[in-house]
Amino acid sequence: MVERRVAVVIEDDGDIRLALAEALRRSGFSLHAAASGSEGLESVREHAPDIVVIDSGLRDFDGFEASRRIRTFSDAYVMIVSARVDEADALMAFEAGADDYLTKPVRPRELRARARAMFRRPRSIRYDGAGHHYGPAPLGAGDATTLPADRFDFAHRGLNLHEGTRRVVIDGAPVALTRSQFDILLVLLENGRTVQTKADLVRRLRNEPYSTDSFVSAGEERAVEVHLSSLRKRLGDSPRRPRWVETVHGVGYRMTP
Ligand code: CA
Repeated sequence: MVERRVAVVIEDDGDIRLALAEALRRSGFSLHAAASGSEGLESVREHAPDIVVIDSGLRDFDGFEASRRIRTFSDAYVMIVSARVDEADALMAFEAGADDYLTKPVRPRELRARARAMFRRPRSIRYDGAGHHYGPAPLGAGDATTLPADRFDFAHRGLNLHEGTRRVVIDGAPVALTRSQFDILLVLLENGRTVQTKADLVRRLRNEPYSTDSFVSAGEERAVEVHLSSLRKRLGDSPRRPRWVETVHGVGYRMTP
């Protein structure tokens, strides 16, 4: 028997809570709903859900804080729902460890589509206790050197990436990346010298094929910039004299030759 996926909805507005819960229930989730941040955190601890949907405006503490706290002990997919169409809110959501950000009114079909998209993404992460989530557990030095060079899918100027295990090794040393950082690096490596626009990268992070011309908001493009700059920091790459990731001004990004 297949175990049902578990969802927790945290929303203080009763009607919206019911609507969100109903949409997820119809997608086959077993549902737990909470009306406050503290109740929601308790529910996440108790039920270890696969996905948590959080309203940004709760009475005790906001949804961003709830996401941050959940990230210290859970690897559930976190989706923040907000009444505000605000780029700063979307960025705050990603910085709080959320996987997705939706604005109200949330249409059930969209919620279900986003939830499905999240589950298509590989998820293998660990936590450092400070709420930061990384890609797969960094390899010990021994592990990194025992993975033969030809087992990696990409090798470029001392950087090696293995897609299946989501491992990145630079000059023999493992590097821990967040899921978004890893996905962006993978797309850039796949495309080499072909420039990827921010919209391309947004769509790839959503797991959409390139051919779609679905709407990409300024907030989502800004989120890609944030992921890009944190990726560079994590790699120790310089935007001005890049070893790996080049900025093509006004267009997007690509790998160095
Ligand atoms: Ca609310």
